[in-house]
Amino acid sequence: MPSSLPNSIHARDVEYLLHAVTNARRHEERGPIIIDRGEGIHVFDDEGRSYIEAMAGLWSVAVGFGEKRLADAAYRQLQKLPYYHSFSHKSNEPAVLLAEALVRISPERLTKVFFTNSGSEANDTAVKLVWYYNNARGLHAKKTFIARQGGYHGITIAAGSLTGLPTNHRDFDLPIIPVKHVTTPHFYRYAQPGESEEAFSTRLAEELEATILEAGPDTIAAFIGEPLMGAGGVIPPPAGYWEKVQAVCRRYDILIVADEVINGFGRLGTMFACEYYGIDPDILVLSKQITSSYQPLAALLISDAIYQAIADNSAKIGTLGHGFTAGAHPVATAVGLENLAIIEENGLVENARAVGEVMQRELRRRFADHPLVGEVRGIGLIAAIELVADKATKARFDPVGKLGLAIFDAGHEHGVIIRAIGDQIAFCPPLIITEAEMIEMLDRFERAFHQATAALAPA
Ligand code: PMP
Repeated sequence: MPSSLPNSIHARDVEYLLHAVTNARRHEERGPIIIDRGEGIHVFDDEGRSYIEAMAGLWSVAVGFGEKRLADAAYRQLQKLPYYHSFSHKSNEPAVLLAEALVRISPERLTKVFFTNSGSEANDTAVKLVWYYNNARGLHAKKTFIARQGGYHGITIAAGSLTGLPTNHRDFDLPIIPVKHVTTPHFYRYAQPGESEEAFSTRLAEELEATILEAGPDTIAAFIGEPLMGAGGVIPPPAGYWEKVQAVCRRYDILIVADEVINGFGRLGTMFACEYYGIDPDILVLSKQITSSYQPLAALLISDAIYQAIADNSAKIGTLGHGFTAGAHPVATAVGLENLAIIEENGLVENARAVGEVMQRELRRRFADHPLVGEVRGIGLIAAIELVADKATKARFDPVGKLGLAIFDAGHEHGVIIRAIGDQIAFCPPLIITEAEMIEMLDRFERAFHQATAALAPA
């Protein structure tokens, strides 16, 4: 086996690479899976095994792997102008054209685009621009963010503070910026017995309002949320949630930041989840599917009101003191433009809606009645299965995550890459997936699921 050779790439991985979001000691024991190439919805490891990528990488490879149009777009731009920045009035054509396209397809109030390299940087930028905006308005105390428990907004200092997941806070001394986390809008887990979805949403909106009033509205700057929560477990909000949350925010002059880093570019079967839920954000954060992750890129779209305040203020003080060396990168934005052209020309948003509908139905048909499945949830081409030790009481496994990990590992054996978020199994395949491919993906997953759950059953 090449992986056991002392000088193999596997051995050198363990020797030299610190892995993101990985148990380091476990990694020393089992080593890496080296992904060597990709084609469509498949990736192949260096030992020749093929996997259906049911997570599109990290929720991101919309157009699938091996899309030559994106490689060509990058190569063309690399030859013409491989790099330039957007400081001091400089610009480049792909950045301008992509900004124009994003303004065209996004909610109407958003008029300007700021590019960063990652979703975390974009959310850090959102925090800074919100603070800057309120300083420019003379509202110097209005700085606190409200986010949700279970929300994911990245891992940099500000974005990681907004994230509402213990693993991203613990031992990192986060949160560090002023942020309050309110209840996860997860009906299955947090609704009271007998409560309707609407009543649950009303209760959460009341909690939000109470949080604002307790702190003082003059201290609360913005509410940030993923329209449909992703990394925290794929959680579509209950009916009426966003309408009620928006009404509370508007009442107290609180900006709404929609983090569509996972949702954006068709995931739910609409170009943006804001459309799906009727959200009218002041700031929209995009990344991942913006380039299908072929290049690092994220974008922040802001309302004209925020832009005007920034423009007035920077005119006064001379400049906007914020920007990244590789922001508005011409190669990344050229790939973004071509990626958007593929999404639009090939009807990938419509495909996500159509294949997504069947995927949601099939997941429920196959798994909803299983005694270890508490909930099957999702919209379009994003879904999760929540595993429980006791279906009636919704009790979680102890320890959490062991079965999820066993299913994740069995998935590899059966040729499908899914994601285990504790005992929640996530699916987020490339938007190009056909119905037949999606069925094959679920067939493979079903075999892995039964293998792993059978191992749990008493002998
Ligand atoms: N926001 C959301 C909703 C995300 O899902 C992610 C990444 N999973 C981020 C922000 C952070 O993006 P990045 O990893 O590019 O910093």
